[in-house]
Amino acid sequence: MKGYMLIGGKRVFKKEEIEITFPYDNSLVGTIPRGDEKDAELAVEAAELGFKKLKEMTPYDRFRALERAARLLSRRSKEFAQLLTLEVGKTIKEAMGEVGRAVNTITLSAEEAKRVLGEEVRFDAAPGVKGKVGFYRRVPLGVIGCITPFNFPLNLTCHKVAPALAAGNSVVIKPSENTSLTVIKLAELLIEAGFPPEAVNVITGYGEEVGDALVRNEKVRMITFTGSVETGKVIMKRGGLKKYAMELGSNAGVYVDSDQREKLSLIAQKVALGGFTLAGQVCISVQRVFVHKDLYEDFLEKLCAFTQRLKVGDPRREDVDVGPVIDKGAADRIMEWIEEAVSLGGEVACGGRRLGETLIEPTVLKGVPRQAKVVSKEVFGPVIVVNQVSSLEEAIEAINDSPYGLQAGIFTNSLKGALKFSEEVECGGIMVNEIPTFRVDQMPYGGVKESGIGREGPKFAIEEMTEIKTICFDSSF
Ligand code: NAP
Repeated sequence: MKGYMLIGGKRVFKKEEIEITFPYDNSLVGTIPRGDEKDAELAVEAAELGFKKLKEMTPYDRFRALERAARLLSRRSKEFAQLLTLEVGKTIKEAMGEVGRAVNTITLSAEEAKRVLGEEVRFDAAPGVKGKVGFYRRVPLGVIGCITPFNFPLNLTCHKVAPALAAGNSVVIKPSENTSLTVIKLAELLIEAGFPPEAVNVITGYGEEVGDALVRNEKVRMITFTGSVETGKVIMKRGGLKKYAMELGSNAGVYVDSDQREKLSLIAQKVALGGFTLAGQVCISVQRVFVHKDLYEDFLEKLCAFTQRLKVGDPRREDVDVGPVIDKGAADRIMEWIEEAVSLGGEVACGGRRLGETLIEPTVLKGVPRQAKVVSKEVFGPVIVVNQVSSLEEAIEAINDSPYGLQAGIFTNSLKGALKFSEEVECGGIMVNEIPTFRVDQMPYGGVKESGIGREGPKFAIEEMTEIKTICFDSSF
């Protein structure tokens, strides 16, 4: 597929192109134009016009257009899933799952389009004020820059674009250079569904070039970003006075309490799923597991049994569970981190081998010290580290010993323990008797500490993407 930028509804091609390759075998999937500063400027200008045109659409019109978009996407599920598999390298099962979630995210945003509400302000509740009545409304910001990562190009772009449009904002999207083709198709679908072409723009190319120009543009009222902590920090430094929503990385932790012997198999299965889905390239992948010492060896045995059953290989095949990581550079780094963990005293409980340029065996490490990168940083690969602890308090301390705070989980029968965990663990979301990887698209989702700022989930994203305007009438004048 020859990709293009979408600026004001026009397809824009460039002489200089970037190749998109299939992570499994490096074969060519398509090309995208290498956009530059001028393209970002033109896209923002188009989006300003798009914002004006959106004002002619009522909330009901926006609801209808989003509903139509959800239906169109649902009808084209297979086509989108196949492209996702080729761009991201995710298995076809995972890709179908992502399309289903994206349909839901658009539908939830359609519903929210009808509920962008303010409330009455009691001006006369201040001393000496009489005859003044009024309210506040939530109004759209204007042009929103949406910068998205490679791992869920469809659903995570929907989490930004659909609430933005629901609230009446126009967008300029800068997708990951690895996975832009899916996003171009999504933008065309939104226009087909009824949004003004100027309201949905896509610019493609390198983050440091066209992405940076979007961030620095003063006409952009907000940057909603999902990606790594490092890039998030750069964006906030360079972007100046505008709003930001930051959905960043993590090294999610989960605790298995001593009273979980009966459910240990089920927990091990959930942990394997949470750690190895999309080859571990999920922001809330299970990375650090802390098991009570009484169950430690049994848990490891069960986790390895499940892990070794996972089929690794070509993600286009229906029977494959774990596909490749995004590129050779990522695979090199993950293998180095595994080696470092072993050199610091950790052991490989199972897996640990590289099966191809981008294929890594699902790997369970045990007894790894905290300073190892596989514990202290975000692995973003198929690696789970299991360590033993002696108490809930020790688990809480270990989970909090992280720069990140996106989601955490606990398996316990103790209500008191679960409450203590949920109060003391510093994260945006706590899952009780569930892995930290659990997410539904309507819930408030986002992190604390270096995991981010703001919340997604259409209702909550709309709060971030609107401003409060206060209106006061003097009825006695
Ligand atoms: P990334 O390298 O930070 O890139 C994310 C996006 O930022 C890409 O579109 C990238 O463009 C762009 N970019 C890079 N430098 C930029 C700059 N200076 N100015 C503007 N844009 C710039 O992240 P990734 O590798 O794609 O994704 C993995 C990361 O995303 C992980 O850390 C993961 O935890 C995080 N993530 C978080 C969530 C969440 O909801 N919290 C969800 C999914 C992923 P190029 O691709 O062209 O460089």
